[in-house]
Amino acid sequence: MNATIITIGDELLIGQTIDTNSAWIGQQLNAIGVKVYERLAVGDNATQIKDALKFAESQSELVIITGGLGPTKDDITKKTLCEYFDVVMVMHQPTFERVKAFFEKRGKELMEINTGQAMVPNNCEVLENERGTAPGMWFDVRGKIFVSMPGVPHEMKYLMEQKALVKIKERFRIPEIYHRNLMTVGLGESKIAMMIAAVENSLPEYIKLAYLPELGVVKLRLSGYGISTAQKDEIDLKYEEICAILEKNVFATKDISLQEAVGELYKSRGMTFAVAESCTGGYVGHLVTSIPGSSTYFKGSLVTYSYDMKENILGVKRGTLNNEGAVSEQCVREMLEGLISRTGADVGVAISGIAGPDGGLPNKPVGTVCFAVGKKDSIRTYTFNFFNSRMENIRASATMALNLLRKEI
Ligand code: AMP
Ligand code: MG
Repeated sequence: MNATIITIGDELLIGQTIDTNSAWIGQQLNAIGVKVYERLAVGDNATQIKDALKFAESQSELVIITGGLGPTKDDITKKTLCEYFDVVMVMHQPTFERVKAFFEKRGKELMEINTGQAMVPNNCEVLENERGTAPGMWFDVRGKIFVSMPGVPHEMKYLMEQKALVKIKERFRIPEIYHRNLMTVGLGESKIAMMIAAVENSLPEYIKLAYLPELGVVKLRLSGYGISTAQKDEIDLKYEEICAILEKNVFATKDISLQEAVGELYKSRGMTFAVAESCTGGYVGHLVTSIPGSSTYFKGSLVTYSYDMKENILGVKRGTLNNEGAVSEQCVREMLEGLISRTGADVGVAISGIAGPDGGLPNKPVGTVCFAVGKKDSIRTYTFNFFNSRMENIRASATMALNLLRKEI
């Protein structure tokens, strides 16, 4: 069986909203072994929507639809589904009660336009949306399943995770998919390919190896569809072989971010760290604190962008700044010394670089970034060049800083 994803909204066509829904849905379906056959994006237009539905129905057993369920006139998905299935709209009482309660709780007046949210095509099963007012809808028609959900990403995700995926697994006999993920940092894709060439060449037909690179981090994924226990064991074996080769650069054996892996490491050791940031402007602190529970191991980030802040907040010597510049190994060393003494963190990392596009020098081109990492009495410094655009330099610097924190333990 396979699925087609239809995303609806004029804003998607002109790039005002990036269609992240279909990417996320594709990941979820793939993870449970449903093959995504095609993705279609259409405007808020009845003809376009019906054409897309007809096309999707002709090729897929499962059609997932998002968008166009808002209360305003431009949202016409529900009405169009009624026309497409030749049914009428009825009031869904539990949804009405929920919409009413939703407004009461927020002290807002319930308007007629909102009560319309409780009207649904009479041939659907409602997937109750605890996150918003537009209900999700499940249609079982002509042997095919259609799932319609709101476009708001967090509402759609809730409905998929809590309602639709469970029902999809019940309704279809999906060949099991077996995945093993390996997260690496600090090696390029081609370098990895070279290192694991022998294992890769030895993979049997039914094992697929995917490289998913993103600025310093490469995710490797071994997968097999509808395979036997013996074949699973073979995947595990190949996985272990790859792990052993890439050992030092492996930060996790499950699909988690580098900041999460670093957090787990510090938490398990009962240790703390802090960051002194210049060119990353607090981005490392943001990444670290996006992980729930980070307060147990993260002391904080001091964003010292100017000379004055580096001097007054971290105690960098004015002479260092004037003679060697803010982007120098001596400067990041002093930043780190100040950081550790002021925060009391066990480990720290300091970052100062030239993100660009301006500010490059002959001996320090754009993308030059200095790092200091270590504990109170053992500080090491490095200089790297990422040669990228501004945002990429910032992101690459953050990845490097996190990797240095990881290797420090
Ligand atoms: P709607 O259900 O059409 O009222 O969508 C509500 C909001 O969800 C829109 O204003 C968009 O910001 C967002 N949205 C809709 N479709 C998508 C999509 N495919 N990907 C990401 N965001 C979306
Ligand atoms: Mg819309």
